[in-house]
Amino acid sequence: MALQRLGAHIWRQKAARERLAGVLRPAFLAPSFGAFPSAPFENAARDTQSDSTKLAQAQVQATTTRAPLVYTGFSTANADPRGTTTTSRASAPHVEGRSAVSVAAEYALRNAPRKDWSKAEIQAIFDSPLMDLLFHGAEVHRHFHRFREVQQCTLLSIKTGGCSEDCSYCPQSSRYTTGVKAEKLMAEDTVIAAARRAKEAGSTRFCMGAAWRDTIGRKTNFNQILTYVKEIRGMGMEVCCTLGMIEEAQARQLREAGLTAYNHNLDTSREFYPSIITTRSYDDRLQTLKYVRDAGISVCSGGIIGMGEAAEDRVGLIHTLATLPEHPESVPINALLAVPGTPLQDQKPVEVWEMIRMIATARVTMPTAMVRLSAGRVKFSLPEQALCFMAGANSIFTGEKLLTTPNNDYDQDQQMFKTLGLVPKPPNFMQGADREAAELSGQQEEEQVAAAAM
Ligand code: SF4
Repeated sequence: MALQRLGAHIWRQKAARERLAGVLRPAFLAPSFGAFPSAPFENAARDTQSDSTKLAQAQVQATTTRAPLVYTGFSTANADPRGTTTTSRASAPHVEGRSAVSVAAEYALRNAPRKDWSKAEIQAIFDSPLMDLLFHGAEVHRHFHRFREVQQCTLLSIKTGGCSEDCSYCPQSSRYTTGVKAEKLMAEDTVIAAARRAKEAGSTRFCMGAAWRDTIGRKTNFNQILTYVKEIRGMGMEVCCTLGMIEEAQARQLREAGLTAYNHNLDTSREFYPSIITTRSYDDRLQTLKYVRDAGISVCSGGIIGMGEAAEDRVGLIHTLATLPEHPESVPINALLAVPGTPLQDQKPVEVWEMIRMIATARVTMPTAMVRLSAGRVKFSLPEQALCFMAGANSIFTGEKLLTTPNNDYDQDQQMFKTLGLVPKPPNFMQGADREAAELSGQQEEEQVAAAAM
């Protein structure tokens, strides 16, 4: 009991610090906190003047007093008599020296994370000048996370190949001739040995992937995976699974076994999705995410760039994730590794600038999420990866392979940590329902203390 109370106390302190950073901190930054708008991108028509002198004065005031900033979407730049500076994208997105990412970052530092983004707002952030995205991604990252910490995760394919789905990027689909052979579920001792090796090598999160459409009718294999989850969680690692679509009851079983997170990527925008996958729908994917969330497991969901999608599809993906009822705790950003034999084999490699744009946009719109620099990292040099960390990525996958595709060399990763002054991020078990329970317990304890003092 005493331990529980201590745990709750520690958590309450942590939650208070987070609240301080995410919500209360604006009070120190902005004397007019009480007058803050509910959102920085206020699209409602305002009583505005176009006098450029007043605009300049208002901007000076905003800079010196940290007066609230309001983004008016796509109207003309202006300022109102209340001293509220407004910025506008209009035809040129960065008039008045403030890009959309700059305004969004400032909002993120002063307020709790938003879940009511419009697609136009995220597009404006995404379209901000790259150096501004990099700078403000770093600013938000440092505010919400320990910037030197990078989590090392290991992803093991525990059931490889022979998948019935037609995901155009995937060498494990039985529809494409890629040389990947269908295998049975990996035996327990092999999986546990791999998890042990991963832990010894510094991984704090172990992810198990199975090339299945779903887990329906796979009771024996599913039960087997539950035992793997229990064992690996018992080793003190975060445990994640990616097993395709799951049902409500299975999500609950995974939660009971101790699963930390379930990965189910949305891959791309709703609009582009049918060009990549036809065997299950975007709504199927969202349904799985809902079951995961409802079961109290933390959500890991991101996507892949470089599949032939347009910029607005990248924005559409982030928009869907950033407007879920709860932001995913984990957002993997993958760059396509085009595998010969798949329909996407001829796609050209993703440039690091595209990754930075995605990472920074995800970081600013979902500030508390772990943004994971995932597949495709092997193509980036150390300086390029450094820019991705600067933009807001705080996790990598280590190990020889990422499912079936090549991954970065272990020794090179260790050297990278040393060169960049990065440190391994410890596991975080306060995720999903565990975090909510701890917060609730902390609140109740605070209320009891307050009541006793009255
Ligand atoms: S991505 Fe997953 S579901 Fe799609 S083909 Fe590959 S293994 Fe199957």
